[in-house]
Amino acid sequence: MTDENPITLEAAVQQVIGELDGPTAVAEVVRRVLALWPSAAKRPEQTVRNQLSQHWNRTWVYPDAQTVTPLRVVMQGVRLRIVLSRLEIKHGALFFEPNFRGFARLQADPASFTLLDAAGQPLPARPVKIKIEHKSPFGDYTFEAAAWDVAPWLKGLKARDGDSLLVTIEDWETGRYRLEHEPAAKRRLDEVDRANRELADLLFGALERAHSESISGVEAILKAYARMADPRGYPGDPWMKVVAQDSRMKLFGDDIRYPESYAPIERILDGARPRPKALSVSAGQRQQVYRFKAAFKHRPGLWRCIEIQGGQTLKDLDGVMRGAFGHDFSDHMSGFWRKLRRGDSKRFREVEIGTIAPFGGEGEGANTRIASIGLAVGDELKYVYDFGDWIEHTITLEAIGEPEQGVEYPRVVAQNKPNYQDCERCKAQGRQTRAIWVCHHCSSEQGRAVLLCQDCLFAEHEEHYADEIVY
Ligand SMILES: [Zn+2]
Ligand SMILES: [Zn+2]
Repeated sequence: MTDENPITLEAAVQQVIGELDGPTAVAEVVRRVLALWPSAAKRPEQTVRNQLSQHWNRTWVYPDAQTVTPLRVVMQGVRLRIVLSRLEIKHGALFFEPNFRGFARLQADPASFTLLDAAGQPLPARPVKIKIEHKSPFGDYTFEAAAWDVAPWLKGLKARDGDSLLVTIEDWETGRYRLEHEPAAKRRLDEVDRANRELADLLFGALERAHSESISGVEAILKAYARMADPRGYPGDPWMKVVAQDSRMKLFGDDIRYPESYAPIERILDGARPRPKALSVSAGQRQQVYRFKAAFKHRPGLWRCIEIQGGQTLKDLDGVMRGAFGHDFSDHMSGFWRKLRRGDSKRFREVEIGTIAPFGGEGEGANTRIASIGLAVGDELKYVYDFGDWIEHTITLEAIGEPEQGVEYPRVVAQNKPNYQDCERCKAQGRQTRAIWVCHHCSSEQGRAVLLCQDCLFAEHEEHYADEIVY
């Protein structure tokens, strides 16, 4: 706040939003805020934009990056579905959470709400707290859930668990909600499905576009309702159920994430992270041959073409990778990730599909069959050998075809044209011999690559740490 300003930036923003009657360009909102809150700062517009993107006490939403719409307008007349739970029927109550999550003002006091019946008459809905016992891995506990006692009304309607209350938001700002009872048998399943699908696609689209691999569920639901074709029509399922039913995403606390993303706490609890489900593999798919082009990530000129059958495993692919790129078979873990394009963007997310323990061991992905990963031509895998040195490779699926008679898979069928180097010790003695070893000891001591033939390595570098050169 600057000295000459009679109001804070926060208050100026709230006032301008309060005066909007529909979707408005962000630039226009910024202009109006600056008229109320003049600033001598270098980039006052940016200060206002930053304030607008705060999540705290949000009363507006960005349906897209250039537009601001007040939630009061977005939510006016919106309809949503509450599915009555057994607990609600038992207590003759309606819970505030999670029924109204996303559809009530932030930090709104449920006691200040007005609930109306289908005819628009205020319901005798007494705010109450209901004790709920909860079992958790940290021990059992009880908490008090905010609810309304609507027992006589529910009784009069003969409401049962599984029935719906169709809620119309009459006034989002003051918290007026009209409730209409719909017995479970009256549910219009096709329309619910259609509404669910639209909402799920909007939420998943938002996740795909997000910079991080996580979005706030409430933020996303507000945005989705601002973009929905008919948010005032017949309502689909509660949004948390829609997310739970969609295999593309998962609710972690209040956040929507990819199912393979994992909350650290869950990882600690069950010691494993969720993994994409392996697809079932038919006999024909087991036979099919996958042709991959594999290359060092940082030296893409060094590549190998590898063929492997659908019924073979990541352990088999790991074996041929180790051989082809000169990695040790008896030391170090390795791992595979699948790279998934996010929406139609150029950004990818990486989903771990398995780790492989060295020779003799197993690892979490050892038995995953190639065909069960569900790869299409053009898809990419990331392969890392040695989680210490982190030697990264890119594996691209080039083709899927039928096996050749009498061929043993996996096999290397092609590679880059090698650029052979000479042994420096032989060269010094006037001979030209192909170098096949790099001596790491001498290389690091001399600050250059020391390349040697087999004989010269044994002659002078036997005690040194060396690796075979990959050509
Ligand atoms: Zn030599
Ligand atoms: Zn050496």
